[in-house]
Amino acid sequence: MISLKGETKTDQILFEYHFMSKKPKSTNWPRPVTQWGVIFAIVLIALIPKFNNNFVPDFEAYCPFGGIQALGSYLLNQALSCTMTSAQIAMGIIMMLAVFVFSKLFCAYICPVGTISEWLFILGDKLNVNITIKGVADKVLRSLKYILLFITVLFTFQSNELFCKKFDPYYAITTGFSIDVVVLYAAIAIVLVILGSVFIRLFWCKYICPLGAISNIFKFTGFFLIVLAGYILLIKIGLNIHYTWPLAIACIGGYAIELTGFATKTFPLLKITRNENSCIDCQLCSLKCPQAIDVASLKEVRDADCNLCVECISVCLVKDTLQVNNRTSYRWIPAIATVTLVVVGIFIGSLWELPTIDQHWYGKEVMAKAEIFTQSGLKNVKCYGSSMAFAAKMRPVSGVLGVATYVKTHKVKIYFDPQKLTSARIQEMLFTPSKAILKSLKQGVGEVKEVTVYLDNFFDPFDFSYLTRLLTDRTAAVGLVTEYACPVLVKIYLPGNYDISESDLISVLESKTLSFMVAEHEKTVELGYKVSKAPVFKTISKDEYSNILFRPYVAQFNGFTKYDSSAVKALKFPMGKNKENRAKLNYLVSHLSNNGGIIEFRTLLNEKNEELVAISYVDSLTNAQSVFQTLNNDTLIFNNRDGSKGRMENIFRFEE
Ligand code: SF4
Ligand code: SF4
Repeated sequence: MISLKGETKTDQILFEYHFMSKKPKSTNWPRPVTQWGVIFAIVLIALIPKFNNNFVPDFEAYCPFGGIQALGSYLLNQALSCTMTSAQIAMGIIMMLAVFVFSKLFCAYICPVGTISEWLFILGDKLNVNITIKGVADKVLRSLKYILLFITVLFTFQSNELFCKKFDPYYAITTGFSIDVVVLYAAIAIVLVILGSVFIRLFWCKYICPLGAISNIFKFTGFFLIVLAGYILLIKIGLNIHYTWPLAIACIGGYAIELTGFATKTFPLLKITRNENSCIDCQLCSLKCPQAIDVASLKEVRDADCNLCVECISVCLVKDTLQVNNRTSYRWIPAIATVTLVVVGIFIGSLWELPTIDQHWYGKEVMAKAEIFTQSGLKNVKCYGSSMAFAAKMRPVSGVLGVATYVKTHKVKIYFDPQKLTSARIQEMLFTPSKAILKSLKQGVGEVKEVTVYLDNFFDPFDFSYLTRLLTDRTAAVGLVTEYACPVLVKIYLPGNYDISESDLISVLESKTLSFMVAEHEKTVELGYKVSKAPVFKTISKDEYSNILFRPYVAQFNGFTKYDSSAVKALKFPMGKNKENRAKLNYLVSHLSNNGGIIEFRTLLNEKNEELVAISYVDSLTNAQSVFQTLNNDTLIFNNRDGSKGRMENIFRFEE
């Protein structure tokens, strides 16, 4: 270190900073602690599934931007974006309030993309390759984040799916480019974060990040409240103003205020203040500010970029010169507030659950008389898409007036007219009776054991799928049938020569967990079935069993419904050995549909429980010989989904 004889320590420090390009040292330890804490938490969440295969990492669980958009689509469309829950909404609201009161604390202390950008800038600084964009270029580039905010929010409100997932670099990397990610968009975003940050100071945060843009709009609190109140007022007085207008005004206005610096003096309530009398104009605060704000020239920092990171305070050489709201002790408030607000957000978010969709299909008068049926445990109600599918299934049912779904707890509420429906009838409608052959019966087995049990906590097709796996793994069961009853009636079919005691079967059915492989990873699910009555064992013949488990294959095409039955004839053929190729029947049926006179293909059992194929054709368009020839062509010509034709050898053979 070069020593300046006779100079004060301050002079020495300033000499080093200004003439030897040494960087000001920060004593702002809460900030790196919080930033490292967030990175550590993300890495931990990513690693947990390696040790606990039941854990499904949710990297966006506390994303405030997703929460704000989800809140918007909920208020506008009564629908929550897929996988969004009250946790994200609570974080979104809390972040919004935090901006009003404090500043953009999420950007300063939590955002992992912001943290990485800052680290990359420091790297670029060490390599001496980075610049701070100023002047017209800076002003023009700042518009990009408002344009991206407008597009992102608009598409999210239109589709109820988070559009930002398509390009968000954080989401793409943490989820390993999940199917929601558009690889090209995300790759461009990742390159912008990495290269942009090395060469240009906080390139992503200042110019691209839509969360940064919306945070600025909240920071211009007076403007934001005027736009919001104006929109609500116009809607209340009956003007049908589309949300695109307030969104566009907020984005354009936010950009204009950011450029002009014409923000309100009041919000956010906390600001960096500088005592001009004690300041020695050393410029260290300006040198240290990650946002390149010229703090040393300001009495009060009201710059849109200031996020109250308090790095400037930490390097100031003169005690009590840089403060928060002219108070020394207030410098700790931003860090304490960040941690407190995150904890409060997580707690509030866990207290209640907003419905993913809440649809009322009739007017207030009708809905006022509605009763509500609630059913939990429907595992197939797990996102916005499956909620909408559930609503579409219920809407045509007479007496159903609306539905609400809660994907976090797999719960549904059904609003119904008690004059037309009962809770018991709705419960029955929700249930999907199913049957499945689990294994082929071995040759020589002439009889089958039918075991009838009643299972509690069995609700939907997921349960059926789990039960088939459970029985296949732990018993010799060959077939399974479920029927609606309360509790659900389950019939298990076992080879007649297979012995299993009542208690062993109950212990299998009441297994606490089930593990199976999904895409080379073991997945474990929790089960909770309870056998409510003692199983009843009965022996039936193999034919009876075949009849019970038989599922007909039916395909109708070439305008089946427009023909009167008198114009239609049918040919029947034994299925015979063709049943071994059952999985490829679709190709045969597609091939048959090329004969314009054939209008239906179905399988059925005859009185001897033998499987037959029945082909219906319009007598005036084709004839039995043509149908038979089509059926036994050497080559099957089938139609692909994209409209192209495919060809394969005909592996089916039918005798006349
Ligand atoms: S002015 Fe101070 S608090 Fe604001 S961003 Fe710059 S260093 Fe952080
Ligand atoms: S506020 Fe502090 S760091 Fe900034 S110029 Fe004045 S004395 Fe230096």
